[in-house]
Amino acid sequence: MTDTIAPSDTVADAVRSGELPGRVWLYSNYNCNLACSYCLTESSPRSERRQLSAEQMIAVAEQAKNLGFTALGITGGEPFLIPWLPETALAMAESLPLVLLTNGTLFTGDRFERAARLAHPDIALQISLDSHLPDVNDMARGPDNFAKVVQAVPLLIARGVRVRIATTVSGALDDPLLDPLKQLVASLGVREDDHLIRPIVRRGRADEVGLGIRAVARDIPNELTITADGAFWGSFGPTVRSGRLDTDLLLTRTILPLAVPAAALLAASRGMPAGTDARLGIR
Ligand code: SF4
Repeated sequence: MTDTIAPSDTVADAVRSGELPGRVWLYSNYNCNLACSYCLTESSPRSERRQLSAEQMIAVAEQAKNLGFTALGITGGEPFLIPWLPETALAMAESLPLVLLTNGTLFTGDRFERAARLAHPDIALQISLDSHLPDVNDMARGPDNFAKVVQAVPLLIARGVRVRIATTVSGALDDPLLDPLKQLVASLGVREDDHLIRPIVRRGRADEVGLGIRAVARDIPNELTITADGAFWGSFGPTVRSGRLDTDLLLTRTILPLAVPAAALLAASRGMPAGTDARLGIR
């Protein structure tokens, strides 16, 4: 892996040409109030936090903009377990548009009011909902997940928060059986193009239980992904299996200045060998 720092125009050119995706992901923390069966990071209430600081997250946002990236994403664990997260997200959105992933189950009382402050033209909350059938949804995601999500989404939208829904499926993405879920999502006030349907990726806890599709580096979009443990190739990179962080997609332990991991990602992308079975094998 190179130690060369990429000039900002090189990264900006790569983003402009599509060689690098525009979005930079941040894993704010690894702990979660849920413990979903297909969780990529084996997150649960017992997980170690492994948290980025507010200062690091804001610095990533500012430097990402200066380097030529065009968007940000925050995921966890569950980001809303961090008390200062909403204010930090607002500060980051001063640099670039932001999507903030959440399981949507913590939005009561004060936490709802703080989430409602994220009514901002450059912020979207992305909430998971996997089935129109409460029992099916809750089987993977935990008791009362369905009820909490369908209650929170219209309330957030009524307060001006843009909400996207992400559905994770083990079958075909165009399965007609998903139609009732699409109708439910629309009835909650979510725009059709804000309903994302995606496959389970066989990493993390999903790998342990044999769920989802196998993916190598070529299958994983090369989005720069920043965690407390380092920078990774793709948002599916920093997964956890049997309690250990996967390092097969680790680019560098250095996260700031962001030009360092950006250069590592660019070098890794350009070094990708030809062939459909190519693996990066980066550590
Ligand atoms: S999939 Fe998301 S909501 Fe479920 S345990 Fe993992 S981090 Fe938490």
